[in-house]
Amino acid sequence: MKISKAAAAAAVAVALSLTATACGGGADKASDGGASGDAKKDKIVIGIKYDQPGLGLKTPDGKFTGFDVDVATYVAKELGYQPDQIEFKQAVSAERENLISNGDVKLVVATYTINDKRKARVDFAGPYFLAHQDLLVRADDTSITKAEDLNKKKLCSVTGSTSAQNVKTKLAPDADLQEYPGYSECLTGLENKAVDAVTTDGSILAGYAAQEKNKGKFKLAGLKLSDEPYGIGLKKGDKELQTKVNAALKKMVEDGSWQKAVDANLGPAGYKADPAPQITEGS
Ligand code: GLU
Repeated sequence: MKISKAAAAAAVAVALSLTATACGGGADKASDGGASGDAKKDKIVIGIKYDQPGLGLKTPDGKFTGFDVDVATYVAKELGYQPDQIEFKQAVSAERENLISNGDVKLVVATYTINDKRKARVDFAGPYFLAHQDLLVRADDTSITKAEDLNKKKLCSVTGSTSAQNVKTKLAPDADLQEYPGYSECLTGLENKAVDAVTTDGSILAGYAAQEKNKGKFKLAGLKLSDEPYGIGLKKGDKELQTKVNAALKKMVEDGSWQKAVDANLGPAGYKADPAPQITEGS
């Protein structure tokens, strides 16, 4: 088939504009939540974790699974985006505020604890989940059962996480804390004895402990060392978006989808989730 030069140029122009849409950040578009305008072409960019089974996981075939993925998908739908209009972007703990304030993502749904330090740079909707900090040790370890036992031990957590901060300031200031970029690296360290324990939210640790390849290797201490209310991070001052996301989260709880997502994603790891928390941000 022969195509004219003009048609070819037009096709290139369309392709370029589509690429621009796909690669562009999440902040400049859809400030109306995507509910109006050409929603077909529009995308929403959402930051999630890529390596946290049960919460946010990118599988080898490029799919995304987990409770945070389900929450993100539900909220996006309420904002006017179908699943194929969501572009997930990796949001490691230390980068979440940057991704939001730079406009690289519209939302962050990534086991993201709401706290005042973070609220100086971003706003949150929610909370939509209440987790608690816990410890993961090797299955045969009997020397670590409480936070104080960590002093002088090698402990792994993640840069930019509340878990690392809590260890330094209150839980075990004398622990030899190693901060890695992600929790999966900590797990590798625990397995090969580079560290003695991993600390973060129990919801995250339970997911690792339950993975097929980790069966029988690790155990949770079963502690509630802190309260970690998860919020959905968004651009500071975007009240309209915050209100819409809060409404979506409320609906997700009320129509039973929240509980279903908790059961489906965290149930298999045997994690006992707290009930859905009251939404407090933005009020
Ligand atoms: N929820 C905690 C936090 O936001 C720990 C988990 C994480 O690093 O994502 O820092």
